[in-house]
Amino acid sequence: MPSHSSEPPDRLAQLRGARPPLAYTARKITALTANPACARRSVLDASGVDKTALARRLGHEPRFGQSPFAIAREEAFKATVRWGSYAELIRLLREDLGVPVDEAKLQDLGEVGGITSLEVRERETRGVIERIAAGDEERLILQSPVLTVEVAGRLAYLEPDALTHRIDGRFHVVAIRSFPVIDGQADPTAVAQTAKQASVHVLALRRAFAAAGLDAEQIADTFLLVCPKDFSNRPCLSRIDLRQELAALDFQLNRLRRAEDLAHGLPATATLDIDRDPAVLHESVEQLPASYVPDCLSFCEMAHHCRDEADAHGYPARLGSTVRNALAGIDSTSTALAYLDSGLPPGAENAETVELLIAADWLFRLRTEETA
Ligand code: SF4
Repeated sequence: MPSHSSEPPDRLAQLRGARPPLAYTARKITALTANPACARRSVLDASGVDKTALARRLGHEPRFGQSPFAIAREEAFKATVRWGSYAELIRLLREDLGVPVDEAKLQDLGEVGGITSLEVRERETRGVIERIAAGDEERLILQSPVLTVEVAGRLAYLEPDALTHRIDGRFHVVAIRSFPVIDGQADPTAVAQTAKQASVHVLALRRAFAAAGLDAEQIADTFLLVCPKDFSNRPCLSRIDLRQELAALDFQLNRLRRAEDLAHGLPATATLDIDRDPAVLHESVEQLPASYVPDCLSFCEMAHHCRDEADAHGYPARLGSTVRNALAGIDSTSTALAYLDSGLPPGAENAETVELLIAADWLFRLRTEETA
């Protein structure tokens, strides 16, 4: 599901160097909102740096992301669903959801008069959606639409697989995935990931409606998931609730700081150009504050680098967000131990944390003695 972002502002482009920017995708945005406190990831994504290549340059092979085999399988399944002007999806809409589809009108927004630029396709998508919402046009399926959403102060262009608007008269985002539904059950982790990505598309649709002064009630807070059924390649359809994901995503997106402001805080010599010397890159990456937690290993290409850095500095977050929150204001586990073992006096800003830490240590020792 490729998508692109508009050309980044100068400082972000300057940091990235001569290579073309990698685009925001719904997958990247959900990963970013999984750790909104991380300025490092925010700047890397906004500047379009290839994080996989950067991690390699820093000496860490990212063990993360879809395998080429999984990507090829997903593309093949998408081609099956799109075959014959979405014949299979139209069948499912009619059979499973009772959608009246006598005249199945489809509009392909993958190009506009031979132009494939995202800006042009986004404008065309917006125009078609506005005309449908106003009741001036009918389309059953919009294929390869382009939507936008602001992320950390930058405009991201997103490409959902499709949109349809004939179910209860509301627009639905369609996501086509190649993980199977076996006996009516799909892998819950894969469904949850897809739901988060679909919620990015629904939010972008809501923002397009708000900008055009249209009634957002016309947008469903469910999405349509199309997957292979059992062990066949035949598609099946599920309708999945997104209310929780939408509320969480909206909250997290609003918490993100502007990437450009974060980038301006870096020294003029800083660079994220993966063609530069690894030692220089290492120094620049260190200047971007990270917020490592063990969960990063499941969603970020930089995780092994950030974990090593957290280890080297003894950051409490290395032990998880519970420890990080419990040791608020204490910058390392060795400092925490110094408060306990050598009676290091705390400052006013972390006196309360240290008091709680000493109490917890006392309870722990008492319990250990009791059970000894
Ligand atoms: S791995 Fe590093 S860059 Fe990625 S989200 Fe975690 S702390 Fe941020």
